[in-house]
Amino acid sequence: MSKVQGRLRIAVQKSGRLAERSLDLIRNAGLRVIKGNNDLLYKVENAPVDLLRVRDDDIPTFVADGVCDLGIVGENVLEEARNGGPLAEVVMPLGFGRCTLKIAAPESLPWDGPASLNGLRLATSYPRILGRWLAENGVEAGVITMRGAVEVAPRLKLASAICDLVSTGATLEANGLVPLDTVFESQAVLIRSPQPVEEALESLLENLITRIGGVVASQDAKYVMLNAPRAALDRITALLPGSESPTVMPLSGRDDAVAVHAVCQEAVFWETLERLKAEGASSILVLPIEKMM
Ligand code: ATP
Ligand code: MG
Repeated sequence: MSKVQGRLRIAVQKSGRLAERSLDLIRNAGLRVIKGNNDLLYKVENAPVDLLRVRDDDIPTFVADGVCDLGIVGENVLEEARNGGPLAEVVMPLGFGRCTLKIAAPESLPWDGPASLNGLRLATSYPRILGRWLAENGVEAGVITMRGAVEVAPRLKLASAICDLVSTGATLEANGLVPLDTVFESQAVLIRSPQPVEEALESLLENLITRIGGVVASQDAKYVMLNAPRAALDRITALLPGSESPTVMPLSGRDDAVAVHAVCQEAVFWETLERLKAEGASSILVLPIEKMM
């Protein structure tokens, strides 16, 4: 597919687990996506950007070849696509689509570490990642590649164990399989093409990456305001998750306490608030942050 001059292209999953979150991310970065009557291509109305909506398996190649300038895909798919050719470069992890590629087997399989897989056959949709892991662990096992429904392979006696993506573990459990080892931890990542973009689009591309970084950084970030007794200030600021240098301000008419404002880069849980309170903090407010740069 040749590129249209003067427009950036972002590859996103058309439908599936990453589709909705990918679109949300792009929208939150300020791009107004319009669903036209062309199912393959969504246009952005306020910037020269098109979204190419494809199977996730195609995204690494499209981006590596420069058919698309950016892409959003699971690290697992990117890693599986690695084949010695030009690579799409990972710009940043995106914090969603988290899952783990795991070895799993029926409970009856004796397990004493990866060596227990010697001489067995494993079913997977990720033969390259699994092959590398087996080699790293010095295991000699057969690998049978399946496109989907990998979890039924042991029941059909196609394989003794599987290597498959797990998030909650419910699918494994429903098929009488137990997770045994972790092969690869994955989440969605933003990737960019090693092919240069045309000059007129360079700054748009860089701005877009910066904006996406801002959206990702603000996903968990919170603005915390509280009053703290001066004597407990150090202990209280140490409790604020992922904040660098909080702003400390006087409280009018009070010498014993100060106001503390901080941007917390990590999620602020109830437990943190309880600990803050126990140290004497009061009037604690946790506010969402919409944008960050
Ligand atoms: P496509 O039609 O685009 O090829 P697919 O069926 O290959 O879709 P999905 O099941 O939609 O893929 O999953 C897309 C990605 O979501 C996975 O590659 C993985 O990175 C991530 N993911 C998160 N949780 C899970 C899970 N429990 N099982 C599978 N994938 C998951
Ligand atoms: Mg796929």
